Amino acid sequence: MVDLQVNGFAGHDVNGDDPRGAVHEITAALARIGVTSWVPTVITAPEERIVAAVRAVATAREESPEVAAAVPFVHVEGPFLSVQDGARGVHDPAHVRDLDADEVARWCAAGPVGIVTVSPHTPDAAAHVARVVALGVQVAIGHTHATPAQVRDAVRAGANLSTHLGNGVATTLPRHPNVLWAQLAEDALTCGLIADGHHLPADTLQAMLRAKGPGRAFLVSDATALAGLPPGRYATPVGGEVELTAEGRLSPVGSDLLAGAARSLADGLRHVLAETSTTLAEAVDLVSFVPARIARLALPLAIGSPADLLLLGPDGSVHEVRRGGRLIP
Ligand SMILES: [Zn+2]
Repeated sequence: MVDLQVNGFAGHDVNGDDPRGAVHEITAALARIGVTSWVPTVITAPEERIVAAVRAVATAREESPEVAAAVPFVHVEGPFLSVQDGARGVHDPAHVRDLDADEVARWCAAGPVGIVTVSPHTPDAAAHVARVVALGVQVAIGHTHATPAQVRDAVRAGANLSTHLGNGVATTLPRHPNVLWAQLAEDALTCGLIADGHHLPADTLQAMLRAKGPGRAFLVSDATALAGLPPGRYATPVGGEVELTAEGRLSPVGSDLLAGAARSLADGLRHVLAETSTTLAEAVDLVSFVPARIARLALPLAIGSPADLLLLGPDGSVHEVRRGGRLIP
């Protein structure tokens, strides 16, 4: 499985004070549950902090062949997002800023940046999107209040992904047109969906998967460091003080908003099989082949490519994990 949006896992946080150590630990912890490739996701922060996190991922890749094989690049989610409540989610408004391709170029000088999530609502957004794409960085649309026309302009400029479609959007919208329909209808956008059972109701997930069709949707965990930890209140860089329920729902204390997720991509695979009409073969595409293509990884079933293989049960449960041909205990 390939997870394109991981903020943290098993108590380790990419956005914490030791991103290099977190990348090593998360690589090992995710492999054990069948996620053999993953993309560290750095959220809205001052430029120095984003650069330091990107540099830390580059260092971790140099230190370990396992990390180099598992982590293709960094996903920077922010800081060029909507400041409007709802669309912004829990990103820190003090550090949200207008889309700036020059800043993206400075991140790229520090290490491998593969995806940046932006809100294309500013008048010069499309020009910046084109410049970011020219750097070799894929542009995802997310946390946005952009108009449908601004979405189309961003796609014409080269944006090719939607970040966790259906989340990071105003809580109420005009019935149509709106930013969801614009992205669902746009075949050039492949969309990430959080299938943790809390971010999208099952009928929404089902409808979005049908709307995008084969090859144009993938699942992400959006997991935070709290994934896999006991219920309770925690302090975290992703949104300050948050509460994790026994059902795996994570929200800022005193709010109905969601503060990232606390379930893994392996949980997402089982959820999509249990709650939608997705077949096992289609579900494997959603967690493996589609995100692998976006991560520019060698497709797993080609002769000569790394043997990252899973043995799955019919319900999506993981029975055996091989990474690079070796069994993970
Ligand atoms: Zn987000």
